[in-house]
Amino acid sequence: MYLIFLGAPGAGKGTQAKALCQDLGVPHISTGDMLRAAQANGSKLGREINEIMKSGSLVSDTIVLDLIKERLKGNDAANGAIFDGFPRTLAQAEGLSHFPNLSLSHVISLDVQEDRSVKQLTGRRTCKGCGAMFHVEFRPSVTDGICDACGSELYQREDDNDSSIRNRLAVYHNNTAPLICYYSEKGLLREVCASGTPAEVTVRIKMVLGV
Ligand code: ADP
Ligand code: ZN
Repeated sequence: MYLIFLGAPGAGKGTQAKALCQDLGVPHISTGDMLRAAQANGSKLGREINEIMKSGSLVSDTIVLDLIKERLKGNDAANGAIFDGFPRTLAQAEGLSHFPNLSLSHVISLDVQEDRSVKQLTGRRTCKGCGAMFHVEFRPSVTDGICDACGSELYQREDDNDSSIRNRLAVYHNNTAPLICYYSEKGLLREVCASGTPAEVTVRIKMVLGV
């Protein structure tokens, strides 16, 4: 089953994708994570996208489509995947539609109030070791700044600052929100309310998927 998780920054796409990929037996494919990995390993690509990502603008469609194309060669993605944060533009959606043997089952649109998503992003903390996610208010770690799961240090993403968040929300409205209409016309859109606890949202998505 190939799924897309669509939604504004801070809607919980990553959290939900992580919660569901094991149950569904498909990989979680996050272009944000892949691009951050490219930055972390100091590759030429990583250096190219550094400033763009810091400011919260979009990396080019060509770069992103190439990354996805490579990733889909993995055997683990032969029968399905959860795309998180991809596609983000109409050109990316069109690109995806031309990949062979890939038929989308559903596009889950996570609906969230803007003030809530801003709060979500400013308080977000991630573990350097295992990638577990916390929130200073909604899901604080037991010891401040330390991961409950593995004891590593927590960090705040470089783009989770006020000006970058504002830009990411504007980019979402201008470039990504049109995909709601695009997938609705294809009969693939499933809107899910993203308020409440992560576990509540997971239950709603499972109902929609019938799993
Ligand atoms: P969020 O949804 O919280 O904004 P992501 O981790 O999905 O975070 O993305 C972080 C950044 O990575 C984006 O602001 C953008 O710069 C880049 N990025 C991720 N996915 C894409 C994509 N599909 N197209 C272009 N840029 C992307
Ligand atoms: Zn950890």
